[in-house]
Amino acid sequence: MGTSADIGDVEVGDLVLLEERRQLAQISLVASENYSSPIIRRFEGSIFADKNAEGYPGNRCVAGCEYADQLERLAIERAKSAFSCEHANVQAMSATIANFAIMNELFQPSDGLMAMRLQDGGHLSHGAPFHASGRKFRWCFYGVSVIDEQLDYDEVRSIAIENRPAAIICGGSSYPRLIDYEKMYEIAQEIDALLWVDLAHTAGLVAGRAIPSPFPYADIVTTSTHKTLRGPRGGGLILCKQEMAEKIDRAIFPGLQGAPKMDLIAARAVLLAEVQTARFGEYARAVVRNAKALEGGLLEAGASLVSGGTSSHLLLLNLSKCNTTGREVELLLSEAQVIANKNPIPFDTLPPSKAGGLRIGSAALTTRGFDEAQFFELGILVGKVVMSIKSKEMIVDLMSFVERNTQGLPLFNQKWVA
Ligand SMILES: *Cc1c(COP(=O)(O)O)cnc(C)c1O
Repeated sequence: MGTSADIGDVEVGDLVLLEERRQLAQISLVASENYSSPIIRRFEGSIFADKNAEGYPGNRCVAGCEYADQLERLAIERAKSAFSCEHANVQAMSATIANFAIMNELFQPSDGLMAMRLQDGGHLSHGAPFHASGRKFRWCFYGVSVIDEQLDYDEVRSIAIENRPAAIICGGSSYPRLIDYEKMYEIAQEIDALLWVDLAHTAGLVAGRAIPSPFPYADIVTTSTHKTLRGPRGGGLILCKQEMAEKIDRAIFPGLQGAPKMDLIAARAVLLAEVQTARFGEYARAVVRNAKALEGGLLEAGASLVSGGTSSHLLLLNLSKCNTTGREVELLLSEAQVIANKNPIPFDTLPPSKAGGLRIGSAALTTRGFDEAQFFELGILVGKVVMSIKSKEMIVDLMSFVERNTQGLPLFNQKWVA
């Protein structure tokens, strides 16, 4: 990138340059961040951005959609093949919108819905009282066990039988462990409920075959495209069985959205080819291996992790015994150029604005090319900062690690170019 004047608007251009410099100099451990490939970035903002293609291929509200139709059909075919599913909708503007559109179309306010409790790792679009989903439907929640901080499927079953929800939603934002989709399916079958998997965090690991797929068990799968999936932001995918196809498409348009963003559909189509390459499978397995290495370093430094560790890309530090808060750790790590986010932990006694945990993940740094040895060292350094939070002396070592390891390092490592 050149100077801000080259970009055409000095004020905005300056901010773009500053943000680029920030991203290059810092390291992101934010579990919901990643870097999409240069090819994806090229198609985001392409000429398709200005095309109104309201409707679906072959049935649009506006003429001139012959290429938009071909593009969307291509994206749909690639999505079906990437996730081995029967139907895909690629138009949702985000996973949050996809989730609400489906609820809005498929269920009545009197229908019960069931999801993982927010504090135990769920997502706000699964019935949080301050979210539209929470206001419109009747919710019941399941959570993790006090013993191992993992899902207790017997408890999920008894809550399901007691409340008889129309759908069981699983998948969350800060649950570090895998979900047993087969068990969830059996519970849903028992009460004749739909099984709906929100795969926003782990879609990339599933597409790369690094962890088990929710298919054939799930009736509906929703996901964002920018987390482990490593695609452009502002995108939601809905994957489902053929029998649900018509209702799902209606849920998005005309149910909730207007015209889709066709340049983003182009970028998503590129993504959905990338995720089917052998190289992407290597990336997905590296993300999981690297999270394990990070776990190893953190535990070696004496830090405590919710559920004892991770089986995915995500880890949740429990700070309750360190006499600190997620907010305090988040701020201190930022000083060392390490970016992460405060997050509630199961049975948290602190308000969400302080939070008893810190959520971290391995996807973004894996995309930058960090290996297991670097993740292990980083785990030790972050662990030491957390364990000696009041003295602040460990921050210097962390800062120099970041400086040494980001020198000249691009955001998207050449080794992942398919
Ligand atoms: C991040 C996340 C979402 C929201 O995704 P957006 O595309 O940013 O709206 C939805 N559900 C879960 C479980 C998430 O973790």
